[in-house]
Amino acid sequence: MFTLPKLNFNPENLEPAISAATISFHYGKHHQTYVNKLNELVEANIELQNKTLVQLIQNYKQLPAPLQSAVLNNAGQVYNHNLYWESITDEKNQTPSNSFIEILIQNFGSVEEFKLLIEATGLTQFGSGWAWLSVDNETKKLVISKTSNAESPLLYNQTPIFTIDVWEHAYYLGYQNRRADYLKDMWSIVNWSEIERKYTESI
Ligand code: MN
Repeated sequence: MFTLPKLNFNPENLEPAISAATISFHYGKHHQTYVNKLNELVEANIELQNKTLVQLIQNYKQLPAPLQSAVLNNAGQVYNHNLYWESITDEKNQTPSNSFIEILIQNFGSVEEFKLLIEATGLTQFGSGWAWLSVDNETKKLVISKTSNAESPLLYNQTPIFTIDVWEHAYYLGYQNRRADYLKDMWSIVNWSEIERKYTESI
């Protein structure tokens, strides 16, 4: 059975970047619903049992057609939200370590350019979706991308290490239509040490 992960921050302490009310709905309602639906699917379908989230997502196309989108949507959204919460910290205004700054410079030119690229990626995702930083499994280079709805870089031979949710439910209570402001404010609560830990693990 899949469960809602424990948050490693106090939702009250993310303000003003994200309001406690937003987290309450986003984590307590949206994420919980994806967990519940995924568990119902696993319970009802023996071919989904004893699989990890990553296995369910990466192999969804081998499932019977009627199951495919339900599995991708619910397993994908459980995985994506797990990573989103891990990308956030209430130890505010962290900065990347010197060695990770070097890696960002090698891949994107500068930390500032990296941030602008993530913001532009999240802003130009049309409709619901996600902005990502991943490691390409073959080249081991960092890749920035966007996906729609529940889709994941896991489907493109990449290992995601950081994500920002750009579904409206992630920011609408606090920002209404101002997605650009939400993306900019996210930097104050980004969990750089966790991004770096995941990077080291995936290379
Ligand atoms: Mn969400």
